[in-house]
Amino acid sequence: MSLAMNDPATIIEADRAHVWHHLVQHKPFETIDPQIIVEGKGMRVWDITGKEHLDAVSGGVWTVNVGYGRTEIADAVRDQLVKMCYFAGAKGTIPGAQFAERLIGKMPGLSRVYYANSGSEANEKAFKMVRQISHKHYGGKKHKILYRDRDYHGTTIACLSAGGQQERNAQYGPFAPGFVEVPHCLEYQADNPGEGYGERAAQAIEDVILHEGPDTIGALCLEPITAGGGIIVPPKGYWERVQEICRKYDILLHIDEVVCGLGRTGTWFGYQQFGIQPDIVTMAKGVASGYAAISCCVTTERVFDMFKDDTDKMGYFRDISTFGGCTSGPVAALENMKIIEDENLCDNSTAMGQRMNDNLKALMDKHACIGEVRGMGLFQGAELVQSRETREPMDEKRVMAVVADCLKQGVIIGASNRSMPGFNNTLLFAPALIAGADDIDAITDAVDQALTRVMA
Ligand code: PMP
Repeated sequence: MSLAMNDPATIIEADRAHVWHHLVQHKPFETIDPQIIVEGKGMRVWDITGKEHLDAVSGGVWTVNVGYGRTEIADAVRDQLVKMCYFAGAKGTIPGAQFAERLIGKMPGLSRVYYANSGSEANEKAFKMVRQISHKHYGGKKHKILYRDRDYHGTTIACLSAGGQQERNAQYGPFAPGFVEVPHCLEYQADNPGEGYGERAAQAIEDVILHEGPDTIGALCLEPITAGGGIIVPPKGYWERVQEICRKYDILLHIDEVVCGLGRTGTWFGYQQFGIQPDIVTMAKGVASGYAAISCCVTTERVFDMFKDDTDKMGYFRDISTFGGCTSGPVAALENMKIIEDENLCDNSTAMGQRMNDNLKALMDKHACIGEVRGMGLFQGAELVQSRETREPMDEKRVMAVVADCLKQGVIIGASNRSMPGFNNTLLFAPALIAGADDIDAITDAVDQALTRVMA
């Protein structure tokens, strides 16, 4: 590559001219430079201008759980690629077998790993399994998939059909049939504070099941903690009751761990915080911390067995993911899991998550605009409001000004779906699980300063 090709101005121009970035309005890029990230180490990244940033969102969308610059992952991937980069279909690979075994070791009650490469794709696999089980075992009747208001399961049309964020869906219909929404538990927190609202929120799901007909419903797909939809932690009693309802009506419980998996909330998986036993678990982001593209759809042996058949030649799971055969994914995932174990990152997520929650709650004394702080482990949110009494959300411009002020200070934070009144306008924090006390304090100090300036 010529020297000119590495020149920052040339890179910025190439990006501006040809890259269509995810999730952004491009109009401002006509007048401002896109930010190009060139290097990372631990919790920190450097952009093309040389500016250092403390990353409080693990690569933007809560992915780099073990932090940047992990040479052990890079070395393992390199060695594996030179030896055997890829084989898909009915044949296996050594890292594929090894990671599946290690992963299942963290998920008692589950036993089969189906490889894919994105969270959306893993969820599509789960939806297809549910549909096929309905055809094979229930005459096609038990085909409906329930999803929850405010939850997100991915970007494809089927995933958006199972998506509870209207602001993300509005422009992409028509959607796939057979997906039915159930209410979120947050409404119950607002309407019925006090004991028992977890059970009441779960009851709202049973009401939908009874209305639709239990024999038409194949699965219930939920995030353990609603992530992008506003960081909503379900109330006490909710999950136990949800599990009971699924068992009562023979409905598969599919938990989407794309965000919460691999230590994000302080346990290996988010559902393990609530003592429940799902039938299907999907995961992506933290599986290899972004060092390779890998996702998994993990099932119980019971689900797997529903596809075994001597008599029906067409009855196997007729699905493939071309890049599910890449060895870079499972080999990176093996090293990633080893790091989480060796460095006790689940425990660190719990401890540092608590520190962040405490720090943010302490800021509430000083900043009346923080309406609520909520989260679990290193997945925390601070909802900004016009008034704590009415919970009216702070306008989007101000929320984004807080994010921009933090960026100026060299701290990258996020904000979750801001366009839905009521639940949103939430500053989002999901730093790498290696965060230390100094990092957490630096993040919350930056928020403190930003709020002081923006609200002045
Ligand atoms: N499920 C959840 C809970 C997610 O947050 C996301 C992505 N943010 C997805 C699924 C989709 O994952 P991907 O972007 O890898 O397709």
